[in-house]
Amino acid sequence: MKLLKPVMDSVLARNPNQPEFHQAVQEVLETLEPVLERHPEWVKAGIMDRLVEPERQIMFRVPWVDDNGNVQVNRGFRVQFNSAIGPYKGGIRFHPSVNLSIIKFLGFEQIFKNSLTTLPIGGGKGGSDFDPKGKSDREIMAFCQSFMTELSKHIGADTDVPAGDIGVGGREIGFMYGQYKRLRNEFTGVLTGKGLGWGGSLARTEATGFGLCYFMREALAANGKSFKGATTVISGSGNVAIYAAEKATEFGAKVVAMSDSNGYIYDANGIDLKLIHELKEVKRARIKEYVTVHPEAKYVEGCRNIWDVKCDIALPCATQNEIDEESAKKLIANGTWAVGEGANMPSTNQAIAVYQNAKIIFGPAKAANAGGVATSALEMSQNSQRLEWTFEEVDAKLQQIMKSIYNAAASAAEEYTGDKNNLVAGANIAGFVKVAKAMYAQG
Ligand code: GLU
Repeated sequence: MKLLKPVMDSVLARNPNQPEFHQAVQEVLETLEPVLERHPEWVKAGIMDRLVEPERQIMFRVPWVDDNGNVQVNRGFRVQFNSAIGPYKGGIRFHPSVNLSIIKFLGFEQIFKNSLTTLPIGGGKGGSDFDPKGKSDREIMAFCQSFMTELSKHIGADTDVPAGDIGVGGREIGFMYGQYKRLRNEFTGVLTGKGLGWGGSLARTEATGFGLCYFMREALAANGKSFKGATTVISGSGNVAIYAAEKATEFGAKVVAMSDSNGYIYDANGIDLKLIHELKEVKRARIKEYVTVHPEAKYVEGCRNIWDVKCDIALPCATQNEIDEESAKKLIANGTWAVGEGANMPSTNQAIAVYQNAKIIFGPAKAANAGGVATSALEMSQNSQRLEWTFEEVDAKLQQIMKSIYNAAASAAEEYTGDKNNLVAGANIAGFVKVAKAMYAQG
């Protein structure tokens, strides 16, 4: 990292105590050196120094009243990272672990991911350290309304368009959208992931999980492999994991394990996806309940232990850094030959090095999980047109987009590293070049 070492040093010095942000920047910078060698004008224009500094970071107080009548205070964030190629776009995460470092790593990733989608969207991310677990519907609504009361001052259909992420699904988007409308008296596409019938897009719910499988289908096919007959382990049981499991199963894989933050279930017969859907999406119960209906399956405490399960394909769809070096080594020792990331940054940089040394097929998050935000951009298009496309139309576009993302990443990898399977470099480079060109052109 000759050219980029000063950029990394300055990121470390200016942003103390932001390990997740450092990790995300490091991973990207490590792959961009050959691109900057070809573009001294970008170095001169300080593109990299600008890229690692968000255009705007907003932090705010979110007061709300709980069911006991007590006032609670959380912290809200929106990081508007880069608007070179379109309005800021990225989800909102509600989770007790949320802090500025996490929102910045997510926002930074989003710049490249959104660029890869082929659609005109910049990068942003938001969230709060609010924990939705165990809260009543009324408490969720009170929190969402207070959160949007402040956020509404900073977003807009042509400025910044948030969506869901961990802890933010259809219910939360509904409460936030209602509050935005109440405050602004505007019916616009200011949020994506909206409900069907009030501006939402068909296939948005399924898009991240389906997109992951569409991307991996390309990556596997390029290596003469497929999902057919592959034993597959999927961490998580939220909207990414559920629809990844559904599509992988449709493609002929056998999904044998899924998890939540408490532990994982293993079912040698293949996971009963209807039941997972019912438990996690409808009842909002723990995954442990699975074994009461299927006593032949087993439940193991500790979500990270899921990587002990022998599988051909691993699809981490839970959260950041869920696969560390040790877990990656376990996967390789157990014969895993492909990893596709549905979550954002689920593998540590050390874990990625383990995959690369073992030469397995690896679909990095910013390419592999881009189907969600891509479909959000399709929702924005439909909102602007005031039209609704059919499920088949949206799904066909999503498949085409995931194929384009794979092709762009593979050909950038080939061009700059001589290895079409180096999708880590390929995704970073292909995503970066479009943004760098736009920033340079815009002065
Ligand atoms: N939170 C999702 C992501 O990480 C989706 C963002 C969006 O749809 O704007 O890409």
